[in-house]
Amino acid sequence: MTDVVKRGDRSPVPADWTYAPAPESTDIVKLQDRYELFIGGKWVEAKEHFTTLAPRDESPLAEVAQASAADVQNAVGAAREAFTGWSKLTGSERAKYLFRIARILAERSREFAVLESLNGGKPIKESRDVDLPLAAAHFFYYAGWADKLEYAFPNRKPRPLGVAGQIIPWNFPLLMLAWKIAPALAAGNTVVLKPAETTPLTALLFADVVRQAEIPPGVINIITGDGSTGAALVDSDVDKIAFTGSTEVGKAIQRRVAGTGKKLTLELGGKAANILFDDAALDQAIEGIINGIYFNQGHVCCAGSRLFVQESIYEPAIEKLKKRMQTLRVGDPLDKNTDVGAINSREQLNRIVELVQAGQDEGAEIYQPPCRLPEKGYWFAPTVFTNVAQSYRIAQEEIFGPVLSVLTFRTPDEAVEKANNTPYGLSAGVWTEKGSRILWMAERLRAGVVWANTFNRFDPTSPFGGYKESGFGREGGLHGLEPYMAFDGAETFGG
Ligand code: NDP
Repeated sequence: MTDVVKRGDRSPVPADWTYAPAPESTDIVKLQDRYELFIGGKWVEAKEHFTTLAPRDESPLAEVAQASAADVQNAVGAAREAFTGWSKLTGSERAKYLFRIARILAERSREFAVLESLNGGKPIKESRDVDLPLAAAHFFYYAGWADKLEYAFPNRKPRPLGVAGQIIPWNFPLLMLAWKIAPALAAGNTVVLKPAETTPLTALLFADVVRQAEIPPGVINIITGDGSTGAALVDSDVDKIAFTGSTEVGKAIQRRVAGTGKKLTLELGGKAANILFDDAALDQAIEGIINGIYFNQGHVCCAGSRLFVQESIYEPAIEKLKKRMQTLRVGDPLDKNTDVGAINSREQLNRIVELVQAGQDEGAEIYQPPCRLPEKGYWFAPTVFTNVAQSYRIAQEEIFGPVLSVLTFRTPDEAVEKANNTPYGLSAGVWTEKGSRILWMAERLRAGVVWANTFNRFDPTSPFGGYKESGFGREGGLHGLEPYMAFDGAETFGG
């Protein structure tokens, strides 16, 4: 408790206005010492295991199975066997199972949120208020489509593909699982999902939800492991691969599946432009820009990592931005007041450090607000670079950390040209009070999502995905069902 003082005859006020610690208890999470592979509704022992850590202090959390190629084959076999029964269920029966999952996730949301922050490093207020509600919302949403597929795709006779192999990253472990599993199941497919090596625990806890919801054995299989497990899944006898992760691995997967007849969707990296016009409501825009890049430590594929400021408001905008950065609370992800948590892994921290060094070497000016970083664990202070040229690595490459690069522009044409000058095309943001300008910009920006006067808004009803090196295919909305379906008279392969 903060001390209080009484000044004069007024009521007592806190002596110090800094936040008192508000740690979320971890008691609700009951971790096992060791987790095996969830195949065919049972836990199947693997030969090898690895340790998964808490990024906030590098403490070991549990041993997790490393699935071999034979384990992957076993899981795909279980999913194949389950497909016949699952795909023959009526849509309304499948919907009941999905609704059950959604309700159980909502009921157990605190347990999942704590585990997500523990294993991934993101602030508890984000796992609690963003990841968990959205994960449940995806299951609710796709449950609603399961018995309406004929209406969703009129005159096209939709049918499921078969077994979907799904490979997800570490930045939104449970949410990415929901993005992948919910539409696949609603469409009548069965799945084998591989979570990222550093964040397997919420997917493994989800296996318990599968048990609770009495999902038929083999419909959902969870196999943990590293990149070699992912590669084995890509090469296995699946009908579709859905991948979210780096552009490099995405390209390698595309080469592997070429000519195999497997369907593919890729949701890859980004280097989003957040464009600030001089007529924008500046304080609101600064809030959105802060959220755009420091949300989830910048571990967001659609993060607004390039800020383009119209030259006429450059100085006040940068001043307000730096001032707002000084109030960001960096620290323990399990503290309810934390804004910026831990970096997910040592590898990711090294990558951020390398790119930030490159920015300084190339001549950009760095600013980091004063903040005390914990001694143990993986941490990086919120960072902004000014004086950035378009050719710098920090303006071209995805940093995937809390690092913002600021550039300037004079005219809308120049803003569009600079914003599109990237190999990526996932998302963009426009800040202006003119509706006509928003539409003019949205038409010209090569990005799958363009947010106007907001940023990082996600909704299960809305399609999400990229252009160019950000991948292809859409997740979310009606569009997110299509890649899990075949249609009479249409080829089943290709993107
Ligand atoms: P990866 O693309 O390597 O990881 C994504 C998933 O793919 C993980 O489950 C990973 O397993 C798996 N995987 C790795 N190699 C293969 C392979 N050859 N075949 C099939 N699956 C594979 O991302 P990283 O974790 O290495 O992150 C590197 C960079 O990627 C980040 O710095 C960031 O820039 C970007 N990134 C982008 C994301 C996005 O959402 N757009 C998400 C994550 C990263 P494992 O975890 O075991 O490696």
